[in-house]
Amino acid sequence: MVFLTEEQAKELFETATKLASPGKGLLAADESTGTIKKRFDSIGVENSEKNRSNYRSLLFTAPNLGNYISGAILYEETLYQKNEEGKSMVSLLNEQGIIPGIKVDKGLVNIPGTDEEKATEGLDGLGKRCAEYYKAGARFAKWRAALSIDPQKGKPSSTAIKNATDNLAQYALICQANGLVPIVEPEILADGSHSIEICAQITEKVLVAQYKALHDYNVFLPGTLLKPNMVTSGSDAPKKDIPEAVGYYTNQALRNSVPPSVSGIMFLSGGQSEEESSINLNAINNIGVNPWPLTFSFGRALQASCLKAWVGKSENVFKAQEALLTRAKANSQAQLGKYEGGSGGTMSSTSLFEKKYVY
Ligand code: 13P
Repeated sequence: MVFLTEEQAKELFETATKLASPGKGLLAADESTGTIKKRFDSIGVENSEKNRSNYRSLLFTAPNLGNYISGAILYEETLYQKNEEGKSMVSLLNEQGIIPGIKVDKGLVNIPGTDEEKATEGLDGLGKRCAEYYKAGARFAKWRAALSIDPQKGKPSSTAIKNATDNLAQYALICQANGLVPIVEPEILADGSHSIEICAQITEKVLVAQYKALHDYNVFLPGTLLKPNMVTSGSDAPKKDIPEAVGYYTNQALRNSVPPSVSGIMFLSGGQSEEESSINLNAINNIGVNPWPLTFSFGRALQASCLKAWVGKSENVFKAQEALLTRAKANSQAQLGKYEGGSGGTMSSTSLFEKKYVY
């Protein structure tokens, strides 16, 4: 039973379909002020409002970025921010045909009674915020849950899975009531030494719980997008995955759990290097036919070489934009299953993994 009017459902479906159009994916540029500080620290740039604005403006004005990127996820500050020329970030994106989106969660806290498992905060007052974000030009939203794998400690616990999937379903419902397409992101972190098979089992279990929760809350699935982890072995696993294995296990987990009416699946990069993310996305797209487009919603794996090329200097803007476009194009080809590998970028092979990742 869908609670939306026909018009509301149509708008959500159209936004979701546009975001998941062939050869395109999302640029996740929604790093919180704390997370962008870590990025800026790594290139020796001060985390000031001006530098954040200059950096995000550099990203959104990269020439023809809209050929590869359908939507950009923003942090709240960016949604209301202007660049040095006085143009709003929202208008820079709209000029490129890129749909602005907004991160609406308020980060992670420990769930009492668990072994430091996480809950995501931000449901209080969410309806009012979503209505304001829509007015400011956002058309989709993101909420990230983070679950850990540790088979010895029984993680993720059923408490953590219930909490994550339930909160994501409530968030999705509130977004849809306010015209925003919810990206449902039950991320399973890569921390640990588990095998790819274990990751596949847990990913499937979490996604089954996720779609049960979305169904229980009457969320309109064609007006949603899923943002899952790729299925890989843990960051400390002794063996490195071959792309074909990532492709196979990721497809299996999704096919066993995600309803065909979902409009698109956009993966997070989760600490893989830029090149690894593109090659794995390509492999995922080369395992038969699926009911949903499979694409990218990368943060680190789109921005690492770009940041490194920029280092906060205006004379490097062009070089930094080139680096972003190189990765965006590689991922666009990977979405189509046509990426042959070898795209450049100074950081293209560097692991971007961070333990217990917060965003
Ligand atoms: P990464 O691609 O850097 O994992 O981040 C994407 C994201 O939006 C996490 O919520």
